[in-house]
Amino acid sequence: MHITRITIWHLDLPLHKPYWLSGGRLKFEELDTTILRIDTDEGVSGWGEGCPWGVTYLPAFGKGIRAGLQELSPLLIGKDPRRLDDINRTLDLALPGHPYIKAALDMACWDILGKSAGMPVCDLLGAREPAPVPIASSVSTGTPDEMLAEVERFRALGYRVHSCKVGADVHLDIKRINHLAENERDGEIIFYDANRAWLPREAITVMNAISGITSWFEQPCETLEEIAQVRRLTSHPIGVDEALHTYNDLVRIQADGIAEIVNIKINRVGGLTKARRLRDFCLATGITMLIMDTGGTVLSDTAVAHFAQSIPPVSCLGVWSCQEMVSVDPAPGQGVRNVEGCFLAPAAPGLGVEPEEKLLGEAVAVYS
Ligand code: MG
Repeated sequence: MHITRITIWHLDLPLHKPYWLSGGRLKFEELDTTILRIDTDEGVSGWGEGCPWGVTYLPAFGKGIRAGLQELSPLLIGKDPRRLDDINRTLDLALPGHPYIKAALDMACWDILGKSAGMPVCDLLGAREPAPVPIASSVSTGTPDEMLAEVERFRALGYRVHSCKVGADVHLDIKRINHLAENERDGEIIFYDANRAWLPREAITVMNAISGITSWFEQPCETLEEIAQVRRLTSHPIGVDEALHTYNDLVRIQADGIAEIVNIKINRVGGLTKARRLRDFCLATGITMLIMDTGGTVLSDTAVAHFAQSIPPVSCLGVWSCQEMVSVDPAPGQGVRNVEGCFLAPAAPGLGVEPEEKLLGEAVAVYS
């Protein structure tokens, strides 16, 4: 089997409502996603998606994905898409770094591998865990009451895990967290994500002022150095999200005892193949995971669900549903959908979701 053609589409994904994070520093109203299809000589095709969370969240942006695909796509023509390590070595040799550009290509190759093997991607990744995976909400920064109202809205959708965005004024953050923690229900997890907004002084002040919560603080500061400083002077579990890009980052997080939890975002780390290495290191060293993507439609959400469902539930606390926040759906009725606050990866071979071409509009590039 070999790759004969790669077709690229660009979609704008308006959010249902503006979204603030990092203590209100960063506002988002629309995402820019890239969807692609890889065709093969045997008639099997695979779909992939890459969608940064705007242009200010990470060193990644939508136009960058399409510029990178212009460099990389021609190099995959003629390659066997089922040989994932060969595909990834080809991409890394041709364009060092830039992991977010490569994730959609890798995703589409996994879809093809699954379809050609007659197995869903979660089984190819090791084995499907039977339990559906809880979806974590993403609660925009606001006043304590606004944030609790948003948690209530997600509760009504069945969510039991809530990622609440903090990271602004120290005194207001303490009020926000105490208010949410006081209203946490049995069986719920509410964790607090600063999206790297705090300086170490601020993180240490807030975290040490909060007692009695049973969850963790995610990405309190910008860098691993700053988070290590916070780690030494606080006692709550800490999660690393935006500062985890590579396998070496993860080795350092573990070796230096910087965090007990990591949030693996498929797009940020370069795709399912590289995420799998991170997963295995976490399982071997007792690091707890959340599995998400940086944005996207039901296509990205479905890839995330397959990956998360290859992890024992005790080590995977949740996924995220970006589809819930965007107003465009290129594959109606397909892929993972919220059922009582959980995702269940499809049983069909591959990813189990195929966007409808008429909903994608004109392709922006074709490589053959
Ligand atoms: Mg986060």
